[in-house]
Amino acid sequence: MSRLSGKRTLITGGTSGIGLETAKHFLSEGAQVIVTGINPESIENAKSELGSEVLVLKADSSNITAQKELAQTIQNHYGKLDVAFLNAGISVWLPIEEWTEEMFNRSFDINVKGPYFLMQALLPVFANPASVILNTSVSAHLGAPNSSVYGATKAALLNMSKTLSSELINRGIRINAVSPGPVDTPLYDKLGIPDAYREQLNKDIIATIPFGRFGTPQEVASAVLYLASDESRWTIGSEIIVDGGRSL
Ligand code: NAD
Repeated sequence: MSRLSGKRTLITGGTSGIGLETAKHFLSEGAQVIVTGINPESIENAKSELGSEVLVLKADSSNITAQKELAQTIQNHYGKLDVAFLNAGISVWLPIEEWTEEMFNRSFDINVKGPYFLMQALLPVFANPASVILNTSVSAHLGAPNSSVYGATKAALLNMSKTLSSELINRGIRINAVSPGPVDTPLYDKLGIPDAYREQLNKDIIATIPFGRFGTPQEVASAVLYLASDESRWTIGSEIIVDGGRSL
């Protein structure tokens, strides 16, 4: 398969879950791949899963200097970048009473500020044409309790896929979003949910999904692949919702 033949690609948060699976899809379609992550264990795991042809970098999405350094590393490595899947993110769900300013800032720093300033730093690096895919969430559209901050970060990112498409289309850069519903990834292990409640939480989540199960990282990666490839070249500022009907 060669839907991304010759494409130079970047996947942030490509060391785990949806990003890691997308890296495998991109590789199998002929792309060159750079992934970033933050957790040393996941970085080592990604190196062994993706093989030596993939550059696995540590780059903290919440740190703007790190985004500039990442853009420079990409330029040094590839020259130009054809595809960026900006996927790194955290998901923190809490009632409004429990949010502190520090936690609020951290969610926005990782989920919104990091990808925004990475796109800014990459402007001179993007090829013409280039495709950027932002990983948002159905939470950008819904009003689930405890998702006030997470949903707001994803709604902000989703909107940028439209505003920045308008601004950047003349430079050949098109930006689209993929918005997953609940997908079975390590993200849920990071929510700090006690084991005793985990099974019940899974049942509660599944009860909200008309398809009757969590999605798989592969199902999201397929949508990302379409948006990354030239097959979607006339699709700009658009969103693919991959959610088993969660947002119906
Ligand atoms: P995951 O936890 O398996 O992967 C998250 C990735 O982001 C990891 O590679 C991690 O290293 C990286 N990351 C986290 N903080 C970072 C930071 N500060 N700097 C750089 N990288 C960082 O989770 P996932 O489910 O694969 O999530 C990927 C994206 O999909 C996230 O943006 C998430 O919000 C979004 N999403 C996930 C779901 C779901 O149900 N799993 C649903 C909707 C949207």
